[in-house]
Amino acid sequence: MAAAAYARRLSNTHPRSYYLLMFDRLVYRYALVLLGLGMFGRSSQASDFRETETFAPVVEQAQEYADTYGGENVLFVVDIDNTLLAMDRDLGSDQWFEWQEYLLEHEPQSCHLVASDFEELLEVQGILFATTGMHPPEADQPEHVATIQELGVDTLVLTSRGDEYRPATIRELRRADYHFGDTSPAIRLFETSGDAAYETCSRFTPYHLGQLERYGLTDREAEIFRLSDKPRPVSYGDGVMMVAGQHKGAMLLMFLHLVGRDYDAVLYVDDHGRHVSRIYDAMTRRGIEVTTYHYTHQDQRVDRFAYGDKQQVSQQWRRLAEVLEYGEPPEPATALKP
Ligand SMILES: [Mg+2]
Repeated sequence: MAAAAYARRLSNTHPRSYYLLMFDRLVYRYALVLLGLGMFGRSSQASDFRETETFAPVVEQAQEYADTYGGENVLFVVDIDNTLLAMDRDLGSDQWFEWQEYLLEHEPQSCHLVASDFEELLEVQGILFATTGMHPPEADQPEHVATIQELGVDTLVLTSRGDEYRPATIRELRRADYHFGDTSPAIRLFETSGDAAYETCSRFTPYHLGQLERYGLTDREAEIFRLSDKPRPVSYGDGVMMVAGQHKGAMLLMFLHLVGRDYDAVLYVDDHGRHVSRIYDAMTRRGIEVTTYHYTHQDQRVDRFAYGDKQQVSQQWRRLAEVLEYGEPPEPATALKP
């Protein structure tokens, strides 16, 4: 049980080396600059990467693409965490999860750890998704997204979350007034399944090394993207594809293969430099026109958490873990009578 495991660790250490993780984020930011200079891959002439603190420029670009190519020939792809939605509190947020992942790997004795291994961390994350609300980073974002949808473009919500978080994910998207079910393209399963129409929310394996062509990928891409020989199940339903932490560029290429048609342009928005660069790279290698937006609206909050005191978030988890373990908060400690 995560709560008991956490209690055992309330003893020592500071996550000082966590700053290295933040350095990693900076490296990805500069990698994006290099991508823009065409130093990686075969950059498509018309493709572009951009950075934006607000969602409005994305709408403008969608309009431009729709005017140029017709809305039906444009695919709008967007991330969830810290892009469409942000956690109401730091506990359970993307930055919190990254920090916990870092501690697991580099400071396994940290008093701040909530799990003893990655699987347990995923369980804790599930508890936090189920019990915590989310909100759009900008209040008018759902309207912006609806405006893009009204252009007649196809949409795909592409998240690193795994399918086990689907109910909480769909709940929060709907609560925020995002609706992707009607604008997402239908996909067909792989040839071995009889080319049957895809069933909503089914889980499926996104690729098999050695049979990559059937999944719309190449051996060279698998090598460049460092695809694992143990692919994790993904799922697609309500317009949301959940890829369980796998390479988003590879997952988007696989998805395009399942949709079975070409788009004239792809528009992509994500708060994470790593994913932006992977999508940009995957699309431009194929000569698919893409405009990516590195969405930085939540960066200050992420940095504040990364460099700030973690006591509050650890206390919040401790309280929640006690409720989960005992059913109610424990009695406040009282001094023993002499
Ligand atoms: Mg994100």
